[in-house]
Amino acid sequence: MPRPIVDEKKCKGSAVCKEVCPMNVFEIIDGKAKVVKPKECIGCRACEVQCPNQAIKVVDD
Ligand code: SF4
Repeated sequence: MPRPIVDEKKCKGSAVCKEVCPMNVFEIIDGKAKVVKPKECIGCRACEVQCPNQAIKVVDD
């Protein structure tokens, strides 16, 4: 199952992932992207590609 992993050291809270994710997987909490619905991820990689800080990797396990 695909799921995104956020590197909190790189995340600047831009919220681009939240905006581009078609499945509402992310919320911004305390200025960082949090994966709140990992099971909804369809592995489209929009978050990974569009994050301006390269803070997201989508893994498939
Ligand atoms: S890979 Fe796609 S569906 Fe999964 S969290 Fe990223 S934007 Fe959302």
